[in-house]
Amino acid sequence: MSTTDTLETAPAALEIHDVHKWYGTHRVLDGVDLTIRPGEVTVVLGPSGSGKSTLLRVINHLEKPEIGYVSINDELVGVKRQGDRLKELSERAILAQRGRIGFVFQNFNLFPHLTVLDNVAAAPVATGKLTKPEARALAKELLERVGLGERVGAYPRQLSGGQQQRVAIARALALRPGVILFDEPTSALDPELVGEVLSVIRDLATSGTTLVIVTHEIGFAREIADRVVFIDHGRIVEQGPPSEVLDRPQHERTRDFLSKVL
Ligand code: ADP
Ligand code: MG
Repeated sequence: MSTTDTLETAPAALEIHDVHKWYGTHRVLDGVDLTIRPGEVTVVLGPSGSGKSTLLRVINHLEKPEIGYVSINDELVGVKRQGDRLKELSERAILAQRGRIGFVFQNFNLFPHLTVLDNVAAAPVATGKLTKPEARALAKELLERVGLGERVGAYPRQLSGGQQQRVAIARALALRPGVILFDEPTSALDPELVGEVLSVIRDLATSGTTLVIVTHEIGFAREIADRVVFIDHGRIVEQGPPSEVLDRPQHERTRDFLSKVL
């Protein structure tokens, strides 16, 4: 069996089924279906306001869809589908699921009053996964992995944006998530700091971590994505390997978007 066959028959790491989300009368996600295999790197592209952040927030239960569900490792998560017998999950189950998903935000969202080490060690302790000494040992290891082993005692304000984002990535890794979601992880950074963050994400991609990355870095998408998904007006317009979606887009809206960002 080839690697591709294995990938296609393995259970989905993440499955998004017919997700609809609206705010008032504004439809922000309009029937999104997406299946992500373990180890797959998916890059989500789309114009501003097309629903990319909302999609990540639905996956992580920061927003509830009106219709549709999300499942992780075949376990149903944000369960809500009109007409189906599926029940909504308890708050506790949602918290447990959220612990399996890493989230890296555009603006880092580190705790300003905690050191770098404690930023990374906090969640495994708070969720009861590790004792404090275990969490601190893991945090040190992860900070070394993102090249910040020397800065464990610093506070976020003492670091550059690129360093803060690398701490945020170490923090996401500390819960040993099945999938990590990135929402424009480099768009708040000065251009000279983008490379160091992309380099850490590249390492994760090549080490087999399942990643979903919203980014406008098209060159990076071409390099690391197994699949590129183009979203517009809350719908997936097209998806496929970078060689298809980026180099031979089938839809006018994709071509139009790419002509503006490339
Ligand atoms: P993207 O990340 O692709 O730029 P978003 O998912 O942030 O898009 O937003 C999609 C649309 O939903 C936008 O029109 C935005 O204004 C709207 N929106 C996002 N969050 C909210 C909210 N909490 N309340 C009302 N409208 C929202
Ligand atoms: Mg966004």
